Amino acid sequence: MSENWNKRTQAVHGGIRRSQYNEVSEAIFLTQGFVYENAEQAEARFLECGPDEFIYARYGNPTVSMFEQRIAALEGAEDAFATASGMAAVNGALTSMLKAGDHIVSAKALFGSCLYIVENILTRFGVDVTFVDGTDLEQWKAAIRPNTKAVFFESMSNPTLEVIDIASVAKLAHAVGALVVVDNVFSTPVFSRAIEQGADVVIYSATKHIDGQGRALGGVIIGTRDFIRGTVEPYLKHTGGALSPFNAWVMLKGLETMALRVNAQAESAQKIAEALEGNPALERTLYPGLKTHAQNALVRTQLGGKGGTVLSLDIKGGKDAAFAFLNAMTIPVISNNLGDAKSIATHPATTTHQRLSDEQKGELGIAPGLVRFSVGLEDVNDLLADIQQALEVSQK
Ligand SMILES: *Cc1c(COP(=O)(O)O)cnc(C)c1O
Repeated sequence: MSENWNKRTQAVHGGIRRSQYNEVSEAIFLTQGFVYENAEQAEARFLECGPDEFIYARYGNPTVSMFEQRIAALEGAEDAFATASGMAAVNGALTSMLKAGDHIVSAKALFGSCLYIVENILTRFGVDVTFVDGTDLEQWKAAIRPNTKAVFFESMSNPTLEVIDIASVAKLAHAVGALVVVDNVFSTPVFSRAIEQGADVVIYSATKHIDGQGRALGGVIIGTRDFIRGTVEPYLKHTGGALSPFNAWVMLKGLETMALRVNAQAESAQKIAEALEGNPALERTLYPGLKTHAQNALVRTQLGGKGGTVLSLDIKGGKDAAFAFLNAMTIPVISNNLGDAKSIATHPATTTHQRLSDEQKGELGIAPGLVRFSVGLEDVNDLLADIQQALEVSQK
């Protein structure tokens, strides 16, 4: 039975919905709406819309549904709602469930836009937020209160790659009935089993590893049927964060090859991190798969020992050296996506995390010399040689 399939099989066949033509490859239903046979059918559908019935693409669409069902199956969850971007998913998951007076606890090491939602938007509507160091369970324990509605964190943080213990935080949160909301981008659907480990809601930016080839924006919220259809769907279908059917198709095809890509990228990332550790041009090599990483033991239990597809290099000499390094590399592109087939290098302090204060950057370890490196599908020896020559240039 399809429920018993492993991830790789779900990623290829999960959620398939064939038209009357029985096509092999998923059809793109590039339509905004759906025709009713008569007025009575239209009335009935607005009253109650079944799983194989559609009204308007802002509410749902057959291609988008295939993507939702495939990713839910892959994650071992009941349901999912696809969104126009990863940020629409983060905003949709949190805003749909919270109201003025609620309390949430959030890790402070967050992607810039996630931090903006938690720190600037939710608080504007009267949600009380407590920030903690996500790797410190004592801080979670002290911050979670009887009225805490949710906890939020990136299971592997961007760009300093701290890993947060999902099972232990979930235990503390569930004791007061709080929902555990996990932005799981860096852990990837390939290596993570977040739902099994206690997450109630899992969020992905599909723009990253799910597409994996830098073509389209997308996002998804994964959870119980009650949460997705009862809380998330009413919010998103009325506020307009829907994923385009074309982008859903790109994501469906991306899921089919995701495990092959992500495993190969993680293997290269591990090799590069091991080869660079101790390089005289580096203050630090941050990669969760390294034995020297502070949460390496957790990486083994939570992620099957896989450190992911991204590493961060803190280059000696600060911003000037980091820029010299970026400009000297010939294979990776300077851009800000990750999880792409092409290796991508980013300087977080001046781009993705620019709006943080120097104090916040310091606290989060976003040093002036820090470069985030998303490992692509190029030959690992070519990448390593290119990085090593650029590191030499950076120290001149
Ligand atoms: C990229 C990213 C997002 C946002 O996704 P978009 O698709 O760019 O909107 C959210 N969280 C994390 C951890 C990310 O890396």
